[in-house]
Amino acid sequence: MEIRSTIAGSLPKPSWLAEPETLWAKWSLDGPALADAKRDATRIALFEQDRAGITCVTDGEQSRQHFVHGFLTHIEGVDFSKMARRGIRADRYEADVPTITGPVRRVGPAHLDEATFARRHTKRRLKVTLPGPMTIVDTVFDAHYKDRRELAMAFAALIREEIQALESVGVYMVQLDEPALNAYLDEAEHWGMEAIDAAIRDVFCRTAVHVCYGYGIKANIEWKQSLGPSWDQYERLLPLLSKTNVDELSIEFAGSHVPAGVLAMTGRKDVAIGVIDVATDRVETPDEVVATINSARAYLPDERIVASTNCGMAPMRRDIAYAKLQSLGAGVALANS
Ligand code: ZN
Repeated sequence: MEIRSTIAGSLPKPSWLAEPETLWAKWSLDGPALADAKRDATRIALFEQDRAGITCVTDGEQSRQHFVHGFLTHIEGVDFSKMARRGIRADRYEADVPTITGPVRRVGPAHLDEATFARRHTKRRLKVTLPGPMTIVDTVFDAHYKDRRELAMAFAALIREEIQALESVGVYMVQLDEPALNAYLDEAEHWGMEAIDAAIRDVFCRTAVHVCYGYGIKANIEWKQSLGPSWDQYERLLPLLSKTNVDELSIEFAGSHVPAGVLAMTGRKDVAIGVIDVATDRVETPDEVVATINSARAYLPDERIVASTNCGMAPMRRDIAYAKLQSLGAGVALANS
């Protein structure tokens, strides 16, 4: 079987949709014009992935302001009028986050409309990303549950309802984004895996968990520099994740200090390996993509390798992100030739 390809999830938004090169960017439009612009931006994201030959595509997260808060705006008990400033990802950086003021309940689907639209506009396999339970817990201010595990399990049930809605419209894969796992290794072990398995219990679409070292923003780049020459977080996490019920593990790999040997710790899972670095504006050549794939081939058979980006490309320059996307596709085609 050939090596497949995907992207971690997000692509930069056009400047006519949102302020470029920033996280939590403000929308440039509102009302029906905004809804229309989101759909047009989704068309472009799908078209460019198709042009690059990506096996399993996403909508580029063109309809969400942020990968966590997009989901939370559809949850009762999450109050966006009470924003709190807190350190997130083990105080790596500060963010304004909404407050949990009561029991959380899903008032309706969060991403069903955009998934349905994307499903109609590509013939390729469609992946939808959702924030994972621990990452949600780490991106809110909890004034109600006062217990991170309990809050995570409450959100896991809501994520599961959302996955069931998404799979009913033909979504091939749902990926839980869990960058927080890398910041809280003990909690990952104590309840992180339990929450992931609860979120995907009895769903029939394919499932993935994405764990990375974060977007290529300044706070993350500085954090990475503090981690030393060999990053050992995956050595703890991958054996744990390999025992969960997810089908695919998505990890950062390109241009990082992740030792290739961790790929041997992934059990029988498919592994989406970052072959595109999102923390640098230098565009990888297809040959460099092949070289990264080949270093993974020392540990994994082709049928378990999915070539991907290290993380979402939302905060990148648009021309660079799309050039990297084309290199990803060209590199995978070369590796399969
Ligand atoms: Zn990521």
